[in-house]
Amino acid sequence: MKVLVPVKRVIDYNVKVRVKSDGSGVDLANVKMLMNPFDEIAVEEAIRLKEAGKADEIVIVSVGPQQAQETIRTALAMGGDRGILVKVEDTVEPLAVAKILKAIVEEEGSELVILGKQAIDDDCNQTGQMLSALLGWSQGAFASELKFGEGTVDVTREIDGGLQTVQLKMPAIVTADLRLNEPRYASLPNIMKAKKKPIAEKAAADYGVDLTPRLSVITTSEPAARQAGVKVADVAELVSKLKNEAGVL
Ligand code: AMP
Repeated sequence: MKVLVPVKRVIDYNVKVRVKSDGSGVDLANVKMLMNPFDEIAVEEAIRLKEAGKADEIVIVSVGPQQAQETIRTALAMGGDRGILVKVEDTVEPLAVAKILKAIVEEEGSELVILGKQAIDDDCNQTGQMLSALLGWSQGAFASELKFGEGTVDVTREIDGGLQTVQLKMPAIVTADLRLNEPRYASLPNIMKAKKKPIAEKAAADYGVDLTPRLSVITTSEPAARQAGVKVADVAELVSKLKNEAGVL
């Protein structure tokens, strides 16, 4: 089975984001970028499938600027086999990413795509679902466990009320939730080996995909600043403040 894992280069979750002064978006100049954390989980799951003899090859794809090559290398150092970088200049909306992924799936003959459940920069949570619709494949989103059978995969999903297990027919799309696994760190020898693994460079036009945005950002703003707290002397004062000032009791 060939597994495709799309990985997105996003702003490091430890960085405090700055909104551009004109409100057109977030300032990415000189900001540390990393692989989207849910995509690390997706890569880890694909590697475990390969180690268990259920996957033959793991192809890592990123749609992004030249620097997204580093993100692909990180995934290759973890255990991916080869990469495809689809170079784009600007941010690309999930539908366009899904169209590119569809073309790659068809070209590569992939039978399973494991994506992150969402990218932590735009929080769209759309790409996996759109890809599933475009391919006409079954989907298991928010996966916390996968069990493969004969031509099927049982996906345990994290839903509001608890866990739900669905059986999908292969080929399938899975999106990884936080508890699917704990991603490994790449070892130094594997980081060195990853430098020699091939990464093909492509353009969106190679897949016939038009990247013209369909949405326009009206404004981006900082969250409201949190007000400073106050110290209370005792429980009586706390109860009185909750009752008389906050009005919550
Ligand atoms: P989103 O729908 O934007 O929240 O992203 C969900 C998942 O789709 C991510 O976790 C990635 O696995 C994949 N994805 C989204 N954008 C890209 C991209 N530009 N390149 C590669 N994978 C992506």
